Amino acid sequence: MIDLHTHSTASDGTLEPEALAELAAKKKLSAIALTDHDTVAGVARAQAAGRALGVEVVPGVELSVGSERGALHLLGYFVRPEDAGLRAKLDEWCGVRQERARRMVEKLGELGIEIDYARVEVAAGSGSVGRPHVARELMRAKAVRSVEEAFERYLRRGKPAYVPREMPKAEEAIALIRSAGGVAVLAHPATLWLKGAELEARVKELRGQGLEGIEVHWSGHSVRQRRELLALAKKLSLVATGGSDFHGENKPGIQLGSGRRGNTRVEDALLDALRQHLLMRR
Ligand code: AMP
Ligand code: ZN
Ligand code: FE
Ligand code: FE
Repeated sequence: MIDLHTHSTASDGTLEPEALAELAAKKKLSAIALTDHDTVAGVARAQAAGRALGVEVVPGVELSVGSERGALHLLGYFVRPEDAGLRAKLDEWCGVRQERARRMVEKLGELGIEIDYARVEVAAGSGSVGRPHVARELMRAKAVRSVEEAFERYLRRGKPAYVPREMPKAEEAIALIRSAGGVAVLAHPATLWLKGAELEARVKELRGQGLEGIEVHWSGHSVRQRRELLALAKKLSLVATGGSDFHGENKPGIQLGSGRRGNTRVEDALLDALRQHLLMRR
């Protein structure tokens, strides 16, 4: 079994990249992809640990892009982590994230909740900062009891400490993934909140911009959604992928390699197909 969607402390997961590889080995997974938000800072560390443990670590990244509706995230598989163009753009986007987190801390201050931004930065480490890091500081300040509560009361879109983040266009993100040697895959299509013909039209549009796959298996997808997404992938000649979206303690209901209550177990064949696709393209 494999898990092609995971987050480490390089973004908003709670396990260090090495610990993630160790957990994958403990769960007898043959491969994982590390897909941190807007950063590849954890890839080399996870790969080094994975090599020693016999777990393949596919280099990856997850990019958030602007969307009129819902959340549009793109997974980039087999990107070259040292690619200069990729690094430069990711650094820029991480800078935007820092500025935004700083403004959210300011807004919380205006609401009478004093949080030290420096602590948020330390919690975020060397990779990308995100709302879950702010949420954990809110927990530490005893303003909330869980990450979930922090989002519900303060951090979600529409809540008082929310600050929107400027995001790149899908076209730009897909081009970046491809220029770094990667395969661009639409993450958790369900979060687009589109169905049937509308979803198909949107996916086709993205395919026209260089998209090559869709994430069929994901902890938040129902059995029916998976069936429909698999059919869509076949119809549009897109690669089907799958992963849990494991974030450690930041999403306590999701387990590495099995998802939510065992709903996301992914066969090795999907990674074989992804690799095959990459080889054929070159
Ligand atoms: P950001 O990238 O800073 O906008 O934060 C988005 C991240 O926060 C997502 O990738 C999830 O990991 C996490 N997240 C979003 N909504 C929630 C929620 N309601 N509860 C817990 N975590 C969430
Ligand atoms: Zn996340
Ligand atoms: Fe995502
Ligand atoms: Fe994710």
